[in-house]
Amino acid sequence: MSQRPLDRAAAICHTLDVAYARPDLGNHADPVDELVYILLSTMTTEANYQRSYAALRAAMPRWEDVTAAPVADVAAAITIGGLAPTKARLIQALLQRLRRDWDGCDLGFMRAWSATELRRYLTTLPGIGFKAATCVVAYSFGRDVCPVDTHTYRVAVRLGLVPPATPELGRPAHLAVELALPLGERLGFHINAVAHGRGRCHLERPDCDGCPVLAYCVAPEAGRYSRRTGSA
Ligand code: SF4
Repeated sequence: MSQRPLDRAAAICHTLDVAYARPDLGNHADPVDELVYILLSTMTTEANYQRSYAALRAAMPRWEDVTAAPVADVAAAITIGGLAPTKARLIQALLQRLRRDWDGCDLGFMRAWSATELRRYLTTLPGIGFKAATCVVAYSFGRDVCPVDTHTYRVAVRLGLVPPATPELGRPAHLAVELALPLGERLGFHINAVAHGRGRCHLERPDCDGCPVLAYCVAPEAGRYSRRTGSA
């Protein structure tokens, strides 16, 4: 008898947990720290956005300092991550919006909000889309949601958790992946899928020999999200 989809998903989550143990991906517990960290992560490598975040905090330790600084100074502090002028403008716009809405950068009161309310508000902030909002809801507010980035989506498709026709972006992608996962396992799956995607389950030429979830892999031998070519 075939396994029920949620039982199968639970077995996948458990296997990934054993293999990867939810490593620290460098995300932040404070929601404003995480919002800025995510803005800095656009179109650059993990090493570069971690460096640009550290450089910004060293140059301007308080978010009030970032809001008050000339935009060129903010851009200079984060130049290592690329797109510095655009990111600097977005960061200042986001912080100004928080000051306008809440008179500051302490969003601790939002812990009383539901995940839906959090996502709804956070997606109205400059530069923050559904995935970024979901990261903040997960990492800073500790909710059982699954940010669907490129790794999470690819691993979810290859493991047959969602069909290949599932939208890759935005709310539809998140709803599909979250509904395919057992309650309590959504953030854990995301963290382990990122580790799996970065370390082994690459888009091109994934390293399938010895893969801990090989038994669950439904990736074809050729085509989009295949095991062999990964070609689009
Ligand atoms: S077997 Fe290969 S394609 Fe399938 S999940 Fe593992 S690494 Fe990814």
